[in-house]
Order: sequence, then structure tokens, then C-alpha cells
Amino acid sequence: MNPNDVETFKALLVRRRAELLAEGDVELVPENAGDDTARKVDEDAAPLAEMNQVIASKRNLERTRQLEAISEALDLIAEEPDDYGQCEDCSEPIKRRRLELMPWVTLCIRCAEQHERAAASGRRRHITDYK
Ligand SMILES: [Zn+2]
Repeated sequence: MNPNDVETFKALLVRRRAELLAEGDVELVPENAGDDTARKVDEDAAPLAEMNQVIASKRNLERTRQLEAISEALDLIAEEPDDYGQCEDCSEPIKRRRLELMPWVTLCIRCAEQHERAAASGRRRHITDYK
């Protein structure tokens, strides 16, 4: 990848990181909020609140993972810019379109699918695996 392209992706990474940092974590309501208004909540609302908590913590986890991946990609660009955009596994160039969507990826689509299959084979398949 030529240095101008690396700069382009670096800019994308820096912008994405700034967006993620600006969003911040979704605030999780402590389970024992300890105030009476929380206890008076309609019983029907409890499962919904619980589901919202699950969604919020999943989102926070994904955000944390993405921030880590972005900072690793930026480290790579700083230290070994020639390696950026190459698949970690097979050393083939990662498709530009893939990098434009996810500039932090370190695997080409083929290797990423292999990793996913390997990870999925160890656990029960879930509907979200197919999205
Ligand atoms: Zn690969």
C-alpha cells in the first residue's frame, strides 16, 4: 500500500476513535439502586429493563474492543506502515473496500471467515452468527 493510502486510513482510524470516545459508554443502572422509585416500577417493565442492560453492556463491550483494535492499527501504522493493510495470517493484501469499512481489521475476509468458523465450532450456533 502506498504511503498516501496509509495516511488516508490513518485519518479514518483517528476519526473513528474520536467518535467512539465522544459517544462514551452507555450508563448502566446499578442493580441495587436503593431508591424507592426503582422498586415501584411495574413488574412488567423489569424484563425490559434487564434486556436494555444486556444491550447496553454488549454495546459497551463492542465499543471497547473496537477502540483496542483501532489503537493496535494506529500502532502498526506508526511502527511498521508497510505491514498495514496486509493480512496477519496469509500476508495477502486486504481488499481496499474491506479496509474502507473497517480500517482496523488485521485479517483478509477469507482468513477472518476461517477464524469465525473455528470459534463457532467450539460453541453452539446462534442466530446472530449468520448475519
Ligand atoms: Zn488472509
